This record gives sequence, C-alpha cells and structure tokens, in this order.
Amino acid sequence: MTASTAGTAGSDRTTIVEADSVTKTFTTPDGRALPVLDDISLHLDQGEIVALLGKSGSGKSTLLRCLAGLIAPSSGTVAYRGTPLTAANPGVAMVFQSFALLPWLTVQQNVELSLQARGVAEQEGRERALKAIDLIGLDGFEGAYPKELSGGMRQRVGFARALVVEPDALFMDEPFSALDVLTAENLRSELVGLWEGHEAPVKSILIVTHNIEEAVLLADRILVLSSNPGRIRSELTVDLPRPRDRRTPQFEALVDTVYGILTGREESTAATAAPGRPPLTPTTVPLPRASVGGLAGLLQILLAMGGEEGLAEIADELNFEVDDLLPLVDAAVLLGLATTADGRLAVTGAGREFSAADILTSKQLFARAAAKRAPLVRAIVQALAATDDHELREDFFLDLLRRGFDLADARLQLETAIAWGRYGELYDYDADDAEFVLEPGAEAAL
Ligand code: ADP
Ligand code: MG
Repeated sequence: MTASTAGTAGSDRTTIVEADSVTKTFTTPDGRALPVLDDISLHLDQGEIVALLGKSGSGKSTLLRCLAGLIAPSSGTVAYRGTPLTAANPGVAMVFQSFALLPWLTVQQNVELSLQARGVAEQEGRERALKAIDLIGLDGFEGAYPKELSGGMRQRVGFARALVVEPDALFMDEPFSALDVLTAENLRSELVGLWEGHEAPVKSILIVTHNIEEAVLLADRILVLSSNPGRIRSELTVDLPRPRDRRTPQFEALVDTVYGILTGREESTAATAAPGRPPLTPTTVPLPRASVGGLAGLLQILLAMGGEEGLAEIADELNFEVDDLLPLVDAAVLLGLATTADGRLAVTGAGREFSAADILTSKQLFARAAAKRAPLVRAIVQALAATDDHELREDFFLDLLRRGFDLADARLQLETAIAWGRYGELYDYDADDAEFVLEPGAEAAL
C-alpha cells in the first residue's frame, strides 16, 4: 500500500479530476439527515485506471455523480483540471450499469446523440460515431435498435457513446455487473486491450465496482470505500503487468489483501461492542444476504480444505467470484462460525460444532448464534417476547429499519431475518397478515 505518487516521482503528474474533502448528506423522506460520503479526497491522473471499490450502499455511485458534476457535494469541492466545478464536468463521459440507451434511436443515433449535445456538426458527428462504433466492435449494427441487441452488445453501445466524445476521463458505474460472466470477461479484456494499445481515446478511467477481482484485474490504483458513511478506507497500488492472470499467486494475494481491507471493520464490530464504537443495532450491523444453506455449505467446504484457507482459493474451489462469497463470509463471521484475517477464512470451534451437528442441534446452535449476534434477529425476538400475544406487525420492524435503510433495503433485511429466524425456530412470519409470531421458548436463545 503506497501513495499514488510512488513511482511517478519526478515525472509531472497531470491531475484530471480532483475531489477535496467532499461530503454528501441526503435528507430521508421523513426529514432525517443521511450522511453518505464523508471527507473524501482523491485524484484521477492522466494515464491511470482507478477503481473505486466498496460494498453495495457505500456511496460509490453518489461519489461518481459528484465527480461528474451531476450532483453537488454538501461540502468540499470537485475540480476538473484545477477548475472547481459549478456544473457537469466537461471532461467526463459516463458508462452506466443499466446501459441507459434510448430505445427509439438506432445504435448510430444513440452514439451521435452525445456529440449533438456537445455541438458537433452533423457530418463530423456521423463520421466520429461510425469510428467509435467500429472501435468497440459494433460494425454492421449501426442501424439496429437496442431491443434487437444482446446485453453485451447494448453495453458496447454504452461504451461507444462515451468514447465518441473522446473524454479526458471515462467514468464507469458497475458497467459489467448486468452482464453474464463470459460476456463481462470479454468486454473487460477488450477494454484493457484498447487501453493498453492506446486506441481508446481517453486519458484516464475511473471505474466503480463492488467486484474485488474486477478492481484488481483493471486498476492501477484501488480506492477502498468503507460504508455508512462512505470514507476512503485504504488505497492500494496494483503494479501487475497487463493483461493480468487471475490464477497467479500475486493476483490471488492481492485479492486476499483487498478482501481483508473490505471486511476489516465489519469483523470487529460484529464480534463485540468496543468502547467508542457505535452501539450494535439492526441499522449499524446489517444482516448479510446469506441463506442458512449457503452458510452451511461454505463451512463444509472450508472444513474440507483443512479449516482455514485464503478467500481467493475458496472462490476458485467453488468457481465463484470472490464477491459472491462476501455475504456468506460476512454472515459466518457475524455469527461467530468463522473468523477472517489477512484475507484468509478460518472456521471457529462454534463453526465446527454447527457443521457436525444433527439437524435439530444445528437449528439450536444457529438460533443461539443468531439471537445473540445478529442484532436484527435479536431485536425481533426481544420485541416479540415483550408483547402480550407475542405477535407484531411487519410495519413495526420496517419503521425501525427505516432509520438506517431505504425501503427496498429494509425489506431485504427483514427477508433475511425471516429466513434465519425460521431456520432457528425463533419466530415465524405470517405473510397473509404481515405479522411476526414468536415460537414457544425462543427467549431462551437470548
Ligand atoms: P452504491 O453505489 O455504493 O451502492 P449509492 O451511492 O447508490 O451506493 O448510495 C449510498 C446511499 O445513499 C444509500 O443508502 C442510498 O440509499 C442513499 N442515496 C443515494 N441517492 C440518494 C438520494 N437521491 N436521496 C436519498 N438517499 C440516497
Ligand atoms: Mg451504485
């Protein structure tokens, strides 16, 4: 982990986009302040690819929009080539996860549109669009409409539309995450090829991703964002040669390191409340999106691998992306069934016991772990135990969760809590009445 200037000392560093102490606070519908970005300073320089890596909800898209000048920071400044922004960043073109193409325009018209917006004459616009379409491998599809194209081809149009303006900085917000694995891998390699061959008419690239391997595959520097609120937790330089091979020990070691950084703080908050830390509540410790079956499977594989192994190796064994493992690993750590250190996962005594137990015992062990260590599950059991009829409407918990989550995320939290509570036979959820009902004897698990 070195500062970004390492290795370039002596050469002039041309900074294209720079953020200085940027914060962003949203106001929730019920009037509370939601701090999303806190004191973010960063720079994107000529000739580099920077990845902004963070978990879902850590504020990556918000930060990208601030840097692109699409929304204003609550405080701090964003500058393009040294000039503070007061409107959209003139040096930036953006590629979105959702492609964001206009369905009633052809491929060529979609690409030309970004030039028209910049006042390029029609004839010149047509020629430049054709060149960009060619460059990105869409030759022959100029007249096609988006709905006639596969996801991968649509995203190629997204790239052509951004590249055609020859931006100083190409911004990409999870551009590959709506594509299937192979298509994504293809497009990534092509992008690296264009970048390495200096064919892409861009001077720098900033990519937002929640995918660790993608960040290590593409970036010269990785900025790791923490969540709630988003802060830059760490910065790493990746100096592996391109194209990069995921299977090399150096690549896997870096993935493990980034993994360790990304999970570092959650690990300690999950374990115990330490003085000076925020209290452990359903909003400060969200439940990872993990099923009990997935969790049990992960522990079994880990035990089969000797009880301790690097995350990248486990992902390989499972043919998973490392990020697919994140929720399972987070859940195992939260419940005390495993620990992580330096990107390695180790099963705990409780984890071994849970894995070896018969079904009834495993349910009891899970119930105790969840009721003690998963704040939302604990809160549900406590609240139900405190009512006369041991029943509560879902709205009660949704309101509680809305203090820290938007509605969609609050529902996802409840969904996980329902699955965990059902498995541990702590409570049930009656979908007809939208009601939680305590199982007899569940308080014993608290
Ligand atoms: P990421 O891209 O890392 O998943 P986002 O930047 O989309 O994260 O969102 C970060 C947080 O900010 C989330 O909790 C989200 O609900 C909240 N948020 C994003 N945009 C708005 C908005 N316009 N108003 C209120 N809250 C928002
Ligand atoms: Mg996002």
